[in-house]
Amino acid sequence: MSLPADLHMHTPLCRHAAGEPVEYARHALSVGLTEIGFSDHSPMPRDDFDDWRMLDRQLDEYVAKVQVAQKEFPQLAIRLALEVDYLPGHEDWIRQLAQRHPWDYFIGSVHYVSDSWDIDNPAKLSEWKKRDPFEVWSAYFDRLTMAAESGLYEIIGHSDLPKKFGIRPAQDCTPLYEKFLDAAARSGCAMELNTAGLRKDCREIYPCREMVRLAFQKGVPITFGSDAHVPGEVGMNFTDAVELARSEGYTETCRFKQRQREAAWL
Ligand code: ZN
Ligand code: FE
Ligand code: FE
Ligand code: ZN
Repeated sequence: MSLPADLHMHTPLCRHAAGEPVEYARHALSVGLTEIGFSDHSPMPRDDFDDWRMLDRQLDEYVAKVQVAQKEFPQLAIRLALEVDYLPGHEDWIRQLAQRHPWDYFIGSVHYVSDSWDIDNPAKLSEWKKRDPFEVWSAYFDRLTMAAESGLYEIIGHSDLPKKFGIRPAQDCTPLYEKFLDAAARSGCAMELNTAGLRKDCREIYPCREMVRLAFQKGVPITFGSDAHVPGEVGMNFTDAVELARSEGYTETCRFKQRQREAAWL
């Protein structure tokens, strides 16, 4: 079976990943991948916004590192991308980022449900104890829906990230999923199947099977990502993710070149 492209991986510039792009590429080839894409955490308008992303002045260095891997491994398709946080009000900043390099795609991710709380940050786990989970999930999916509608992104990353630590609301979240997926379907934005969830407390691919099912029904395209933060995680659990997608009806995935989508058989 040929594996779909792994379109989500990081570099040490984000300050919480290890290994150079050439090492990620070498591992990709060793597990049989034919295409990967780097999507490191993009800079924010202010470098002191948080401490888990590259600085603005490192953007060119990031591009250069990916280009080194492209030169060293011509037999592997290596795309240049960014994982760009969606925060309301950041739209102009994101459009400026898009102009700075010939990116192949942007992954839109919501990590922040407010300007100060990144819900997946283990250092802020205690914040969860102060909130009602359903309120957090609702705020998260409001932003995810805005991200999908914004037209700023080709792919929406790890769509049910709030489950990371295994904290889940008692309420039915289906209406939240539907609102987001309707927006993705309207704007032609793809949803990522991200295997990093299997390595977290939730022990489940992002997003859950129900979201994959609804996405297929609504005609939302999908991509695959390991969200590797070390070279050995590239392509990890891809057979599980492909099985999940196929079992809900998907026969296609997609790839991106210069922000244009192309379908590929799954
Ligand atoms: Zn990261
Ligand atoms: Fe992320
Ligand atoms: Fe990531
Ligand atoms: Zn990520």
